[in-house]
Amino acid sequence: MQALAQKPTTAKETTQDPAARSEVFGKSVFNEDRMLRFLTEDAFKSVKAAISAGTKIDRKIADQVAEAMKAWAMTMGATHYTHWFQPLTGSTAEKHDAFFDLLPDGRAIEKFGGSQLVQQEPDASSFPSGGIRNTFEARGYTAWDPTSPAFIYGKTLCIPTVFVSYTGEALDNKAPLLRALHAVDEAATAVARYFDKNVNKVIATLGWEQEYFLVDKALARTRPDLVLAGRTLLGQAAAKGQQLDDHYFGVIPHRAFQFMKDLEHECMLLGIPVKTRHNEVAPNQFELAPVFEEANLAVDHNQLLMDIMDKVGGRLGLMVLFHEKPFSGINGSGKHNNWSLSTDTGTNLLSPGSTPMKNLQFLTFFINTLKAVDTYEELLRSSIASASNDHRLGANEAPPAIISIFVGKQLAGVLDELEGVSKGKLSPEEKTELKLNVVGKIPEILMDNTDRNRTSPFAFTGNKFEMRGVGSKTNCAKPMTVLNTIMARQLKEFKSEVDALIEKKKLRKDEAIFNVLREYIKASKRIRFDGDGYSDAWQKEAARRKLSNNTNTPAALKVLTAPDTLELFGSMGVMTETEIRARKEVELETYCLNVQIEGRVIGELVYNYVIPAVVGYQNQLLQNLSGLKEVFGTGHKKMGAAQLSILENLSFHLQELKVKIDAMTEARKNANAIGEVGERARTYCESVLPFFEEIRYHSDRLERLVGDDYWPLAKYRELLNLK
Ligand code: ADP
Ligand code: MG
Repeated sequence: MQALAQKPTTAKETTQDPAARSEVFGKSVFNEDRMLRFLTEDAFKSVKAAISAGTKIDRKIADQVAEAMKAWAMTMGATHYTHWFQPLTGSTAEKHDAFFDLLPDGRAIEKFGGSQLVQQEPDASSFPSGGIRNTFEARGYTAWDPTSPAFIYGKTLCIPTVFVSYTGEALDNKAPLLRALHAVDEAATAVARYFDKNVNKVIATLGWEQEYFLVDKALARTRPDLVLAGRTLLGQAAAKGQQLDDHYFGVIPHRAFQFMKDLEHECMLLGIPVKTRHNEVAPNQFELAPVFEEANLAVDHNQLLMDIMDKVGGRLGLMVLFHEKPFSGINGSGKHNNWSLSTDTGTNLLSPGSTPMKNLQFLTFFINTLKAVDTYEELLRSSIASASNDHRLGANEAPPAIISIFVGKQLAGVLDELEGVSKGKLSPEEKTELKLNVVGKIPEILMDNTDRNRTSPFAFTGNKFEMRGVGSKTNCAKPMTVLNTIMARQLKEFKSEVDALIEKKKLRKDEAIFNVLREYIKASKRIRFDGDGYSDAWQKEAARRKLSNNTNTPAALKVLTAPDTLELFGSMGVMTETEIRARKEVELETYCLNVQIEGRVIGELVYNYVIPAVVGYQNQLLQNLSGLKEVFGTGHKKMGAAQLSILENLSFHLQELKVKIDAMTEARKNANAIGEVGERARTYCESVLPFFEEIRYHSDRLERLVGDDYWPLAKYRELLNLK
């Protein structure tokens, strides 16, 4: 017991003392400091205005900025530049061009001007567009996003960009996010000004927590499923998995520690403010979290991080698994999205304050979030849907597919009190009572809002909300676009309701706010849930509350094209109907492709690996039996009883395996013949996917029976034993 109380030991840190860290931090980023040094004052002001107010940067200034970026990049040893963007494939894309160019007379120059900075035309035909490019314009272009600073990666200057079609439709994840962030800025600023006239801008903040697995690359390479699908499709659980719970906060294995150290160094150079690292619950599972940042920058940093992780892992002979459920029977990986809103005056709008007025502001934003999530719970669920995340939501540690909000006891109490506020004008006594005993009593630090209840998909954790259903592979831009859009819509509605009460009913501002909040608390009650999200009781209760429970991606994506959704995104200026339809189509296609690829890989694994292994082992047993017969004659039957029984078992599972694999292939053929992508996805989900588990069952039984020497795939106990 004594030992347990001690601080967990971690491997020794060697390189980073804090001073060294701050020295390298952001060294490879064209940040404000560098802009100040390399830009003229006009250019600097112009870029700053573009960042804070979204104003356009004119061509002359763009030329100057490009020149400065190039000059700086070359001092850093960069030879190329690229527009860096986030197509709907889910990863990032880049096309490198050299600064170097030849003049017609053959002289060499270094070329990078405003036009190359501002706009590029990547050969985009291979990126998914959901039909947008076919219908409108064959080409798409990338355009500079000055709100996310350029950075040097390797020898390349990377310029974060949006990717849009020539008719302006977003072909990426960043463009809608920027529009959503703009919408929430406008709506939240208007509301924040009820409380503080000095507020001119509100930014959304995001702090993600990236979970991942590390496996030895050489071992992983023996497994086509890990290489091609990012998860094990077959595999018997190791005798020792996570039952002992000894991995969490335990000693970080040496190779993983090396990986983290190298990774953190690269992150520091690129200005990604990573802060914490630790083991996760499952063996070989780890987590990395940064200090939160403005949401667009945080999204870029997370996308960049995943890329760096692949590269650093590669150097150390490790494969990084971002899949949400790479191993069966142990925890999967998520990417909690911690989210809040923050003013340009430095106030976190979701943090309780020290005065009643500050707390009323807090309650306003807090309750509006409850209302927004209540109204659009199904849409929020759709934003985290993917074939891979379907395996995680609702399993072991992860939150269920039903969206609900954890508020904690203290705040639940406050909400109950506010629900009783009188309609219309408030008496002076009631006002005083509210100020002193309700609003005034919210402590700055909410003790019960740590997250003991890990199953809540949307938890209030003291000064931010934590969206926990996001998958480890997911681009955070997707949930962030939806969350900020619904919040923008909600705050806009709130503002017009409060203003109406002030103007028409002649209520005072705080009275009007209390009146509207009271109605919101009543209206959004069903979304609040602090209990056990895994329980059957909650499934039943959620159904009674009419909360959506879409357990798979095809079902979850339906809501994207519902009239309410189209109206929401359209009216908030985030996405047009064309863009939404295109996105849904891409998501559904991706889903089908994922299941199709997995189906093919399982087929390959079974036919080319499992069956030959089983047959080989059968032969060994048969040889042994005939040897026994030769030597012992009739006595061999008794002596070889174990071998015979194993042979029978092998044959049984082998037959079943073959029957299931062939049936699955047939089911895939039928699914592929379906033209409409929604129907095809549904068919894949309902009639192809279920075979995977059945096939796995028989294959895993065989793995248990067949001699180790015969089994060609690295086993769980080998994969999950990083030293
Ligand atoms: P822990 O959960 O480990 O005690 P915190 O609650 O401080 O730590 O933070 C968890 C994550 O939430 C971190 O990634 C952090 O950056 C992020 N976070 C903290 N405050 C905010 C905020 N206001 N907005 C967005 N993310 C935040
Ligand atoms: Mg967390």
